[in-house]
Order: sequence, then C-alpha cells, then structure tokens
Amino acid sequence: MTATEYTHSDYLIGLEKNYGAHNYKPIPVVLDRGEGIYVWDVEGNRYFDFLSAYSAVNQGHCHPRIVEALIQQSQKLTLTSRAFYNSVLGECEKFLCEYFGYDKVLMMNSGVEGGETALKLTRKWGYQVKGIPQNQAKTVYAAGNFWGRTLAAISSSTDPDSTDDYGPFLPGYIIIPYNDLTALEQIFQSDPNIAGFMVEPIQGEAGVVVPDEGYLRGVRALCTKYNVLFIADEVQTGIGRTGKRLACDHEEVKPDILVLGKALSGGVYPVSCVLANDEIMLTIKPGQHGSTYGGNPLAAAVTMAALSVVKDEKLAENAQYLGEVFRERMRQIQTKASLIQEVRGKGLLNAIVINTDEESPLAWHICLRLKDLGLLCKQTHGNKIRFAPPLVITETQLHEACDLIEKVILQFSV
Ligand code: PLP
Repeated sequence: MTATEYTHSDYLIGLEKNYGAHNYKPIPVVLDRGEGIYVWDVEGNRYFDFLSAYSAVNQGHCHPRIVEALIQQSQKLTLTSRAFYNSVLGECEKFLCEYFGYDKVLMMNSGVEGGETALKLTRKWGYQVKGIPQNQAKTVYAAGNFWGRTLAAISSSTDPDSTDDYGPFLPGYIIIPYNDLTALEQIFQSDPNIAGFMVEPIQGEAGVVVPDEGYLRGVRALCTKYNVLFIADEVQTGIGRTGKRLACDHEEVKPDILVLGKALSGGVYPVSCVLANDEIMLTIKPGQHGSTYGGNPLAAAVTMAALSVVKDEKLAENAQYLGEVFRERMRQIQTKASLIQEVRGKGLLNAIVINTDEESPLAWHICLRLKDLGLLCKQTHGNKIRFAPPLVITETQLHEACDLIEKVILQFSV
C-alpha cells in the first residue's frame, strides 16, 4: 500500500476511533466474513483465525448447523423473559445437565455473569449450608486469574490494567498464588469462613499458564477436606478446547460449580451457564437472581446445536491430537530461534512466550507481521502469543499455519 492509499478498512477503523470508546487496541484488520477456520477482511483478504474470539468459536465461524438453529428459532420465538416458561429452555437445561453430569443449570449471557452467578451461589451455600456467619463469607482466587470485567470480577484481579482507578473493590476476597496447593491448604486451614475457591484449570488470559499435573486433583481433594466449594471457570478452557470435553476431565475431577460461556454458543450468540448439584443450586430461590435474556429460547436452541456439533464432529479429540502436532512444530522452531522462550498449552489452547520482557512491543509486531501473511492472533500480557484456532482445523491446515508462524519467527530472529 502506498502512503496515500486510503482503504475501506482505514475508513472503518476511523469510525471506531471517532465514535467508539477506546477500551480495546485491536490488530488493524477489519473482518467482514467468516467460515470455518477462516475470516476475510473487507478488502477480501483471507486469514487463518488463530484466536477464535478468545475460544468462543471452537466450532468454526458460522457453523451451518448452529446458524440453522439460530435462524429456525429466531423465526419462531426469541425472548419471553423468565416471567413465563418457554418451549426450549427446559429441553436445553436437560441437555446441559446430561452433557456435563449435574443436577441443575442456571443460564446467563456473558462469561462474567457466569462467574458472578457462581460467586453468588457460593455465598448462599456458605451461609445456608456451611453455616458461615452472615456477611463473613470469603472466596479464594489464584493470582493471574481473569474472569471478566465487572467489579466482582476485577476485585479478584492482580492485573493493574484491569483494576487501576476502579476501586473500591468487593470485600471477602483472598488471592493466593496459582498452582500452589500448599498455599491453598494453608489458607483453608486458617479461615473457617471460606466458602469457595474459583480457579481456571489453565489460565488463558494470563498467557496459557498450565498448572502442574495433579494440581486440579489436589484442589478437589483440599476443597472436599475443608468443605469449600471448588468452582471451575471453564469459560475459556471448556467445550473441547484443551482436548477433552472440559479441562478438568484431564484429571478426572468434578468441580462443585462449573462455569461455561464462549463456545457454549459457538460464537453465534452470548450464552453462559453455571452447573451445580441441588444442594448448591437450590439455595437460590425465585426472585433472588436472574437476567432478562438469560435462558431465552434463541440461546437455548443455539446452545444445544453448538454442543451437539462438538460431540458429533469429535472436536475435542481433534484438538487433543492436533495440539500435540502444533506444540511439536513450535518446539522445532524453538530449537532454531532463541526468540521463543517457551512453548506451552494443552489441546488447541497454546502459547509461545517471546524472549523479551512484558513491556517489549516485539510480540505485537510479530502479530502484525503474521496478519500481513494471513494469520490472525493476539499477544497477551506483552510477550505471550496465544494460538487457539477453531477446533475444526485439519492437520494440513494446521501445518500451513505453522509454516507461516515459523517464517515470521525466523524473520524476527535474524
Ligand atoms: N472466564 C474466563 C476464563 C475468561 O477467559 C473470560 C473471558 O475471556 C471470562 C470468564 C469472561 O467472559 P466474558 O468476556 O464473556 O464476560
């Protein structure tokens, strides 16, 4: 492009700059269409999508079965509120409970509402079942966690970008190091008013931080021993992404409360949910929690289609196999380029850590160069680049994408 050329993308980016809040700094590409693992910009250039809307598009862009469910349901009934029953919600609730093995489910919209719902349930359970004195309940989180942008969520954040100038924060929060069972046991021992521990089985936003093998089993055991609820935030790791139905399945542990979002709808509609057994879920009574859109028929129809696709197309199995292939390719690049400090991940949730400090713009420039060559990804926390393609990717496509990544990493290494 010459310096004077003004593209349609430039125009659209200008609109966002002039009229939208500046709460994001996107890679400068304006996407217009998506199909499977590919997206196209307004100029018609095609890209591999290696972000999948932060793991919301596990089933691939505009999956025909999910879109068909959306179309069919949207022509029939979209929203009733929960003041009335609707003809799809019950079917979807049954489907979700059977799919994930819980007594009950509570549907919301965004991932953060799922986390917030889990926290409210935990407090209710803490007072009504565990017997914690009123207003004394505490919840524990791991440093580096990310579960969204509401005040409840950022009250547990250790990232200054999330918290600066937003205080005061919610009380009753305790932060301990991630992947540290000793710290978890110490805190459980020291405080009988702890109701729950909310944790991501792999910390996605922190840069795909994978805990040691056995961590989740240890968390399960300690939560049981100290009568504390184990809340798994699988909003990013769930639904096939890490090579199993849930990331917790790798260690065969069952959380007391499971939070899901993102790929629950395959990127077609905002849907989240919280699953738990009756002893926990039935502590919330009519009128005590809800959402106008939560559990609407459109969301319910889309959710059932999206989860059916994951099962029928064996997307978790594909992620498990191709994840190994991807990390192997990245490790081969690492042997040629000291620019890569670390390769890590599980299934198709992976990251490379660039050998710079977090303030360096190098990872951003690598992402820009990858974009120029036709692959979209985004750095997180400065020097980590997450690679999370839709799980419908084939081995040939994955190798093509790895060739591009290799080319760029080697270019930046000289
Ligand atoms: N939990 C985790 C682990 C996430 O990664 C995210 C978003 O990235 C959320 C919760 C929040 O989801 P949402 O952005 O839909 O509110």
